[in-house]
Amino acid sequence: MKTSKANVLIIGSGVGGICSAARLIKKGLKVTIVEQLPYLGGRCSTREYKGHKTTTGGIILPLGGGSTFQEAFDMLGAEFNMRPIGGKDKGGTLYRLPDRTYEMTPKNGLRGLLQFCLNDDEAGNELYSHFKRALHWSEPLYNITFSEWLSQYSHNTDLHEIFQGHVGGFVGVNIDECPAGEFFRNLKLSARTYGFGTAVNGNIDLMNSLAAAIKNKGGRISTETSCKQILVENGIVKGAIVEKDGEEETINADFVISNAGPDLTVELAGTENFEKSYMTLLTEHNFKTPVVHISMSTDEPIEDFPGIVTFGHTRRLVFLETPSVTCPELVPEGKHITTTYSVPKLSAGPLKLPETIEMVMLDLRDFYPNFQEAELFHIATHHSGWPAMRRWPGYPMPTRTPVVNLYNVGDGCQPLGYVGIEACAITARDVSNEIAPD
Ligand SMILES: Cc1cc2nc3c(=O)[nH]c(=O)nc-3n(C[C@H](O)[C@H](O)[C@H](O)COP(=O)(O)OP(=O)(O)OC[C@H]3O[C@@H](n4cnc5c(N)ncnc54)[C@H](O)[C@@H]3O)c2cc1C
Repeated sequence: MKTSKANVLIIGSGVGGICSAARLIKKGLKVTIVEQLPYLGGRCSTREYKGHKTTTGGIILPLGGGSTFQEAFDMLGAEFNMRPIGGKDKGGTLYRLPDRTYEMTPKNGLRGLLQFCLNDDEAGNELYSHFKRALHWSEPLYNITFSEWLSQYSHNTDLHEIFQGHVGGFVGVNIDECPAGEFFRNLKLSARTYGFGTAVNGNIDLMNSLAAAIKNKGGRISTETSCKQILVENGIVKGAIVEKDGEEETINADFVISNAGPDLTVELAGTENFEKSYMTLLTEHNFKTPVVHISMSTDEPIEDFPGIVTFGHTRRLVFLETPSVTCPELVPEGKHITTTYSVPKLSAGPLKLPETIEMVMLDLRDFYPNFQEAELFHIATHHSGWPAMRRWPGYPMPTRTPVVNLYNVGDGCQPLGYVGIEACAITARDVSNEIAPD
C-alpha cells in the first residue's frame, strides 16, 4: 500500500476543511486534503445547467473586513471574487407580506421591521424595547422557542409570519422549533461585523481560487479520494486510510481534521474510541435541518431586488434570491436564475417533495401575479448526509473529539449564534489556532 506523511490531514474540502488548510499552510505546516467528490467546496460549490450556475448549498456568502471566511482568502492573497448585496445604505433584505413590503436598511433596521409587521409605530417601538433587552441585557435561554418568546408580547399574525420566514431562512428551522436564545445570539452576531454577497462566477470559483493558493504553497489536494478509516492508536490519531481509483493509501499525520460531519467522523474512527458523554451529546438533538432548494430559469427576473426576499404568509416558500440580478455572469445572456428555499412544516419530520414544489409554485403565483412558468432545473432536497445544517441550532458538537489530535470542523460544530459558511470558517480558524498557536 502507498504511504505518505503530512502534519495535518483534512478529510473533506467543504468551507471548514478548505479554510483550515489555508490557515495551516500559512502557518508553515504540511497539509493534505482528501475530497471524495470530483469538485471542491461541498455545500458551497456550483452545479451547472445549460450555462446557468447554481449552488450546491450556500447562496449568500459572508464578506468584508469582519468575515472569518474572507480572512482565510486574504491570508494567502487568494482572489475573492464576490459582489456585495446591499451596501452602506442598503440592507440587502426585503420582507414581503401579501399586502406590503419592507426593505431593511442599516438606518431603519429591526425597529422599522417590527413597526412594519405590527403596522403601528408605537406598538413597534414597544416590542423593540423587549428585543433590545433580550439582545443587550438578558439573553433568553434555550428552554423556550423563539415563537414562545414572541408570543409573550404579541400574537400578531403578520409579525409571527415574517419571523417564521426570517428564522427559516437564517437559522434553518421553523419559528416554533428555534431555541429563543439561539435566535437572539444569531441576530446579535450574524451580520453585525460582516456583510453578505454573491460569488460572481459561482461558489466553485472561490473554492478553486483558495485551492490554487494552497497548492501554490505546497499543499496537496486530492479529489475523488475517499477516506475509508481514521487510524487511532491508544486514543491518539495517527492518520487515515484513503482510496482513489481503487488504490488504497495510508496517510500518516500528526493531526486529522474531519470536515465530514461529527457522525461520520465517529464511524470512520470507530465508536470504541469515543467515550460516553461525547456519544450521548452526539445522539441528543441529532437532527440535521432539512431544506428544499429549487433553482429555476426565467427570461425576466421573478424578483428584481438584489438580495434576499423573505416572505410571510406562505405555504412553503421561506425566501428567494435572484443572484443573476447582482451577478449576470452566472447565466447566459437574456436569462435569469432564481433560487427558492423552503423548510418543511416540521424540521424533524418528513420532506414531502412533490407537495413542496407545488406549494412553492402557488406561493410564487400569489406574490408575483405575472409569474407564469419557469424551467425548474435543479430541485435539491437537502437532508441526512447533505443537510442545510448538520446539527439542530443551539446544539453544536465541540470541535475537539475525545481522540487526541482529532478535530471536527464545519457546521456540525457551529459556534452558538453563528450559522452556515461564516460558522464553518470560524471552526477552521479556531482549530488551526489550536493546532498551531500564533
Ligand atoms: C440549500 C442550502 C442553502 C444554504 N444557504 C446558505 C447561505 O445562504 N449562507 C450560508 O452561510 N450558509 C448556507 N448554507 C449552509 C452552508 O452551505 C453550509 O453550512 C456549509 O457550506 C457547510 O460546510 P462544511 O464545512 O460543513 O462542509 P461540507 O459542505 O459539508 O463539506 C464536507 C465535504 O467533505 C466531503 N467528505 C465527506 N466524507 C468524506 C470522506 N469519507 N472522504 C473524503 N471526503 C469526504 C464531502 O464530499 C464534502 O465535500 C446552506 C446550505 C444548504 C444545503
